[in-house]
Amino acid sequence: MPTCSTCAEISNYIANAIDDLNDYAKFSLTYCVQLDEDTIKDIDRNVRIIAKLIIDEIEEGDNYNWIATTAPNLSACHSSVGNAYFICSQSFELEYEFKDSSHERIFCYNCNGKISIKIDILAAEAKVVLKHKLLHERPVNVTMPSEIKSKKLVKI
Ligand SMILES: [Zn+2]
Repeated sequence: MPTCSTCAEISNYIANAIDDLNDYAKFSLTYCVQLDEDTIKDIDRNVRIIAKLIIDEIEEGDNYNWIATTAPNLSACHSSVGNAYFICSQSFELEYEFKDSSHERIFCYNCNGKISIKIDILAAEAKVVLKHKLLHERPVNVTMPSEIKSKKLVKI
């Protein structure tokens, strides 16, 4: 399993890996992030913030939007261990959630894009598993949620 020694290395790592692939190729990777002491201190040992840090770096690397499916769930006996799950904002599963709402349809793909992050603060590492069945076109507007909000306001 490749290791990124810092969170910041993830975006480069992913960007380089995707560079070698064709459009609509399958992309999956597993890697381990070593969390340094300063990072752990900064985030106050908060699993949620680490997951957010890592997702921000992944988004910078692959230019997709990743959406948390649930709040990171913390292990019952170890508050320093937790899992976080994300899906691609353009995956079909998400389309279903928006089906009956007033959200505008985003162009969706059967990409099955998923990320799981297993964080262990005591071990100072996070294991990231990213699976994207196809590298489709990127979301046009990364600030889409606020866009929708402002359109709603205009209608009112
Ligand atoms: Zn996707």
